[in-house]
Amino acid sequence: AAKEAGRATYRFFTPELNRRASDRMWTENNLRRALANGELELFFQPQFAVGGRRLVGAEALVRWRQPDGSLVMPGQFIPIAEETGLILPLGDWVLEEACRRAAELGLHRNLKDGELPIAINLSAVQMRRPGLAERVAECLAAHGLPPGALELEVTESVLMDDSDTVTDSFAQLRAMGVALSIDDFGTGYSSLSYLKRFRVDKLKIDRSFVSELRGGDPDSGAIAEAVIGMARSLRMQTVAEGVETEEQFQCLAALGCDHIQGYLLGRPMPFDEFVAFVRAQARVDEAVG
Ligand code: C2E
Ligand code: MG
Ligand code: MG
Ligand code: MG
Repeated sequence: AAKEAGRATYRFFTPELNRRASDRMWTENNLRRALANGELELFFQPQFAVGGRRLVGAEALVRWRQPDGSLVMPGQFIPIAEETGLILPLGDWVLEEACRRAAELGLHRNLKDGELPIAINLSAVQMRRPGLAERVAECLAAHGLPPGALELEVTESVLMDDSDTVTDSFAQLRAMGVALSIDDFGTGYSSLSYLKRFRVDKLKIDRSFVSELRGGDPDSGAIAEAVIGMARSLRMQTVAEGVETEEQFQCLAALGCDHIQGYLLGRPMPFDEFVAFVRAQARVDEAVG
C-alpha cells in the first residue's frame, strides 16, 4: 500500500513540477529575448498630493509587451527575473528608460528640480550589487537630470540587509539627493529601528491597509494612522497605495496622509498617455490657480 501511495504521489507531483519548471524556463528564455528585442515597456501611474489633488509625481511600472501586442504583468516575470539574475540587466534597463522618459517629460513641461519625480522599483538583488549610486548618478548625468527627478522604491527586506554595500548605497544616494521610499510598508518583517538607521524619505502604505479603510469606523484606519504618525515623527512623507474609492481618499486625508496613488485618480498608463495626462493636469492646476 505504501508503495502504491508513493507511486500515486509520484504521478501526482511530477507533471505539476515539470510544468512549473518548464514555465520558468520558458519565461527565462523569453525574458532574455524580450530584453534584447526591446519588448519591455514602462507604464506610469500618477501620484497626487492629498491637498488640492495636485499631480506630484509618478511611479514607473514595467510591462512586457508580447509580439502579439498582449501585456504580461510584472508579477508574472519579476520573481523569475530575480531568481535567475536577469533582474540586473532588467533593472538597468528600467533605470535608463525611466531617466530617458523623465528627461522627455522635462522638455514637455520645463520642469524645475524635482517638480515631477519618477519613482522606480528596485529589487533587493539590485540593492546588494555594489556601485548602485554610481550607476544612478551616471544615468542622471547622461540625461541632464537633477537628482530630484528620480526616486527609488525598495521593500522592507532590503532594510534587513545591513551589509556595507547596502548601507553605503543608501548613504550615497541620500547624499546625492535621490529620494528613497519603502514600498508595501507594513507587510514585511523589518524592525522599526531600521528606519532610523536607513533614513528614507517616504513610506508607502500598502494597499492591504488602504482597502480596509471605512468612513465612520476609526478602527479600520488603525494601521494607516500608526504608519502616518511614525512617518511624521521621523520626518518622512507618506504615500498611500491602491486608493480605489473616494471613501478611502477621505479617510487618508483625515489621517494626514501626504500623497495618494491608485485607480481612483489614475491607472498606470503608457508614456504617451501619461504625457497627455500631465498636460491636461497642468491646465486644471492653472484653472484652479
Ligand atoms: P508595487 O511597486 O507595489 O506597485 C504597485 C502595484 O499596484 C502596481 O501593480 C499597480 O498597477 C498596482 N495598483 C496601483 N493602484 C492600484 C489600485 O488602485 N488598485 C489595485 N488593485 N492595484 C493598484 P503592477 O504594475 O502589477 O506591479 C506589481 C509589482 O511588480 C510592483 O508592486 C513591484 O513590486 C513590481 N514591479 C513593477 N515594476 C517593476 C520594476 O521595474 N522593477 C522591479 N524590481 N519591480 C517592479
Ligand atoms: Mg512600487
Ligand atoms: Mg507597493
Ligand atoms: Mg505592492
